Amino acid sequence: MIKIHDLKKSFGDNDVLKGINLDIKAGEVVVVIGPSGSGKSTFLRCLNLLETPTSGVIEFEGTNLLDPKIDINQLRQKMGMVFQNFNLFPHKTVLENLTISPVKVKNESQETAEKEGLALLERVGLKDKANQYPKSLSGGQQQRVAIARALAMHPDVMLFDEPTSALDPEMVGEVLAVMNALAKEGMTMVVVTHEMGFAREVADRVIFMDKGVIQEEGTPEDIFLHPKNDRTQDFLEKVL
Ligand code: ADP
Ligand code: MG
Repeated sequence: MIKIHDLKKSFGDNDVLKGINLDIKAGEVVVVIGPSGSGKSTFLRCLNLLETPTSGVIEFEGTNLLDPKIDINQLRQKMGMVFQNFNLFPHKTVLENLTISPVKVKNESQETAEKEGLALLERVGLKDKANQYPKSLSGGQQQRVAIARALAMHPDVMLFDEPTSALDPEMVGEVLAVMNALAKEGMTMVVVTHEMGFAREVADRVIFMDKGVIQEEGTPEDIFLHPKNDRTQDFLEKVL
């Protein structure tokens, strides 16, 4: 589904991504781990062109994203993104947060969008919050709304950038449970997280990123039980 070849991104003379190579298959769950500042967010943001790569190739469903003629908005519809800080529209109700893009961007009827929105809210356990405003929800609830909002666009892949890092510990589980269910339904997912339990349980493949390159990748078992790279070993010793 996604082929990444020699992806580089620099900010001025700061070479953040130094040649990333990765293929992601449909239905695969790829978890990206690595120290702060290693380029994980930049990598995700390059995938949906929130950042413009400096060089390399990103092919998504057969289209080269670095082709200047590409329709970025159409691309973004196919890639849902969930951020650390939820980024919900504060002056829209929960349900409106879910319906606004399908109606405006995909020309769905209000009725269809609301019906789907409510079904998605039910899926993340928040149907009863449909008419409330984001600020009256807990962080965990807001993040579940953010996931439902991304799903409302029927993306082919979901990108998660530390979706539980801003949450109080007691709310992490409810968000991971939604992500786990999504993975089981076959969604293609790229997840940057420090939740090693989630990585172990849900990832098909774990990528250890450091200093702008993929230092090591493998199954959760490879990475967590038999890491080969010294940097991977150091990192895991610190976080586990
Ligand atoms: P991670 O998500 O792994 O913590 P980031 O991708 O956020 O790492 O950051 C990697 C490096 O890129 C850092 O040195 C950061 O300062 C730099 N960086 C990220 N975004 C920008 C930006 N928009 N402008 C300049 N430098 C940036
Ligand atoms: Mg980051």
